[in-house]
Amino acid sequence: MVNTFFSLRMLQVVVCCALLISCNAGNGKRNKGKDYFKVISVNDIKLPVPKPGEWRARHVEENQSFDRYCKQGQLQARDDFHKIYLLQIGTFNNTQQQCLKDIQVYLSLFFQLPTENLPSVSEALIPDSAKRKTGANNVQLLTTFIIDTILVQTKPVDGYALLGLTSKDLYPGKNWNYVFGMASYANRVGVSSFYRYNCNAEEPRSYQTCLRRIIATASHEIGHMFSIKHCLSAVCVMNGSNSLAESDLMPLRLCSVCQQKLQWNLRYKNLVRLKQLKEFLQKKGLASDAHDLHKDLEVVGPTAND
Ligand SMILES: [Zn+2]
Ligand SMILES: [Zn+2]
Repeated sequence: MVNTFFSLRMLQVVVCCALLISCNAGNGKRNKGKDYFKVISVNDIKLPVPKPGEWRARHVEENQSFDRYCKQGQLQARDDFHKIYLLQIGTFNNTQQQCLKDIQVYLSLFFQLPTENLPSVSEALIPDSAKRKTGANNVQLLTTFIIDTILVQTKPVDGYALLGLTSKDLYPGKNWNYVFGMASYANRVGVSSFYRYNCNAEEPRSYQTCLRRIIATASHEIGHMFSIKHCLSAVCVMNGSNSLAESDLMPLRLCSVCQQKLQWNLRYKNLVRLKQLKEFLQKKGLASDAHDLHKDLEVVGPTAND
């Protein structure tokens, strides 16, 4: 049987956002922000020519510039509609439980939004008709059931995005071997699995690998929920990916263009975000990713107050 990789990132549903807001950036504060993005763009790394099998070799996508992002009419977060929610589905081993705590913190820093866990739900909510067995012990869960029946109906009214997390393997239909996850960007909900992220060992290196994979996926998917499309501007966490190997090569950093899109939507303080994320990544031993953010801080300068 062909071992089909089909990542969460491949299963996009185009987001149709309802609330149109202006893209104009006329005030002084916003102009200062524009300087920030221009300054950090020196740290953007040009995308290499894709190798056969990689995402950009297989998919032709349109570039979403910053202006285009603004003009497409985004659903903007508001005070009463700005939380990110996480929903744990079923049980998790010790490594995964530690990751779950770190994911929550990381996402709150990455998006500068309150990020909360909903009360976890039992896997028993998923009927046998939405499960299947592959091999002796591997029970897979049907993503479409989780999205349509659990996540869409569970998302609180103040939730901008909801990400379900499970330790079990996932499949989106009978013709698929497995998926890492799946999302409905129109509903701004998704589910992601630890199962294929090497999260079973307790030793630190494995933990860092596991954590890095799950926070990369979570920030990428929730980035899509904020209507940011696959990045063609530079090497970036919003690049499309066809496999775990390709994902592992991607940074956790948003390139300058994607940072500008997110900041335009969420209006956070760029430097506060960078400093907090860098500190988190350093603490977790993700030195290379912390260094990427350090380089942004370095070019912006220690006295900047953006
Ligand atoms: Zn994607
Ligand atoms: Zn980008």
